[in-house]
Amino acid sequence: MIKTFVKKSHIHNFGIFAGQDIPVGTRIIEYTGELIDKKEEARREKQNEKIGITYIFDVNDRYSIDAAIGGNNSKYINHSCDPNCDAERFKNRVFLYSNKFIPKGNELTVDYAFDSKEPLEVCHCGSPKCRGFINEI
Ligand SMILES: [Zn+2]
Repeated sequence: MIKTFVKKSHIHNFGIFAGQDIPVGTRIIEYTGELIDKKEEARREKQNEKIGITYIFDVNDRYSIDAAIGGNNSKYINHSCDPNCDAERFKNRVFLYSNKFIPKGNELTVDYAFDSKEPLEVCHCGSPKCRGFINEI
């Protein structure tokens, strides 16, 4: 079990941080939550837009995970254009893996890679490699 903790993030709202040094290629945490289909996701995202926060993570063409229900620290993972984690899918489950060495105290990030056809969302990741938007462009 890899130690993580949650605190305010300079990227957005709250973030998940490394509670220990994490070697490259480590399975850090599962993105847990309620498995929902795309129809239910669309319904919930409409609600989430009103409150301005969502914990829904894409799994595959059929399903997504809503970590608002049954989520753990992983639901706070923020986007970066130069992330230190990758989301790996196994059937209907999602795990976060380190793609580089992550020193204790650093924020964990993943590339949300929103579809370029979705409304563009401005990125605040602060990385030198920032592409300006959370979407893939
Ligand atoms: Zn960025």
